Amino acid sequence: MAVPTHIPSWYAATANAAPDHPLLQGEHSADVVVLGAGIAGLSTALELAERGYSVMVLEAERVGWGASGRSGGQAIFGYGCDISKIEAQLGYADARKLFDWSVEGVDMIAERIGRYGIECDWTPGHAHAAIKPSHVDELKQWQDDLQERWGYAGTELWNQARLQQELATERYRALLYDPRSGHLHPLNYTLGLAQAAIGAGNSTIPKGRVRIFEGSRVIGIEQGQQIVFRTAQGQARGKFGVVMGNAWLRHLLPQLETRYMPVGTYICASAPLGAERAQALIRNNMAVADINFVLDYFRLSSDQRMLFGGRCSYSSLDPPGLRSRMRQRMVGVFPQLADVAIDYVWGGYLDITMSRAPHWGRIGNSLYFAQGFSGHGIAATGLAGRVIAEAIDGQAARLDIYQRIKHHAFPGGHLFRTPALVLAMMWYRLKDWL
Ligand SMILES: Cc1cc2nc3c(=O)[nH]c(=O)nc-3n(C[C@H](O)[C@H](O)[C@H](O)COP(=O)(O)OP(=O)(O)OC[C@H]3O[C@@H](n4cnc5c(N)ncnc54)[C@H](O)[C@@H]3O)c2cc1C
Repeated sequence: MAVPTHIPSWYAATANAAPDHPLLQGEHSADVVVLGAGIAGLSTALELAERGYSVMVLEAERVGWGASGRSGGQAIFGYGCDISKIEAQLGYADARKLFDWSVEGVDMIAERIGRYGIECDWTPGHAHAAIKPSHVDELKQWQDDLQERWGYAGTELWNQARLQQELATERYRALLYDPRSGHLHPLNYTLGLAQAAIGAGNSTIPKGRVRIFEGSRVIGIEQGQQIVFRTAQGQARGKFGVVMGNAWLRHLLPQLETRYMPVGTYICASAPLGAERAQALIRNNMAVADINFVLDYFRLSSDQRMLFGGRCSYSSLDPPGLRSRMRQRMVGVFPQLADVAIDYVWGGYLDITMSRAPHWGRIGNSLYFAQGFSGHGIAATGLAGRVIAEAIDGQAARLDIYQRIKHHAFPGGHLFRTPALVLAMMWYRLKDWL
């Protein structure tokens, strides 16, 4: 059987060479079996391998096929929800730990890139943007909170005159600039993690400790003395299992699947702009995201295209007229791009929890999971892999704190949860316009 391909995108068109991995056939075993070869699954495999565990990673499609290979690539501290929501449940002391660990998630990226020689265009510098006056107050308050309550120093609040020295747009009134967060080519980062895990290139992991199987969808999970992940043609046994399937699980673990909603989000890549025109748009090459609920996010690619993301969809079909709508959004921020063609448009699903807080934990004694990254997963997935690897290795203190965050199931189960979410989202969209 041919190995599945990535969906067409600018990332797939500029992916580093990577080996095909075999289909799972017959019975195999390892210390740990991981479902999903996105950043979360591969990070778990890498962290376990660094601790001496043998690991099998089963991927339904191809390494980086999911959100990890399609995302905006903006690696930011924090979680999908405001940290105050987590504080309301866990109290300040534990929320502060979670905040600090989210920063570790950002710092891990550059460390791994350095340690394993991953080529993925990592570029520090990120900004959150204010569109309306109330957003400016929000950013100011946020900066104060970050510094005074959460110990996160170094952000800069830029007024319109200052921001326009870096960003050629009239759309924003202020920016909260963070030199520590940044952006990368997410598919190449994910492929690089896979290479590191299997011991290729500069990796110090012994070859054979991590085995990856592509085109190997898990269709059943059995929990007994051992964990067994079944695919159409084989089965993988481990002392531990880890489920890192994001929003793509299909009737495998209802207790997980009812606690997130798959929400589509989209990105377009313009035609190459040339170095001069691209640099004139974002002079310091930072990534930017506005703070609307349905947000725009953008950055330049290494070959000087505008990569512009936004929109949401609650249906399994792509919205009609996607290319021209994405173009409209981009031109709304940069009218000077009105004459520029769009070369690629693609989308993927986010795993949004009801509170947008992360949903990480264990089912029984030996099945672990992390989901609910809620559109904020580039850095947090890497951290989730580390936290779960630690727990499997007998150090569960960090995972235990994440597991205390309560998550409600979406009302309506599989079939009827979408209409409820659409109503809620319409309300938030309306708030963006006010
Ligand atoms: C368009 C888009 C833009 C985004 N932009 C950003 C951004 O700029 N910044 C940010 O922080 N976050 C962003 N996100 C979110 C971020 O990309 C995700 O949170 C993160 O990549 C999730 O990683 P993951 O490993 O959990 O999931 P994925 O990368 O989706 O990997 C899960 C893998 O599991 C596999 N799988 C699922 N079910 C099975 C099964 N039964 N058997 C075997 N394999 C299975 C899937 O095929 C998939 O490859 C974006 C997401 C999208 C879709």
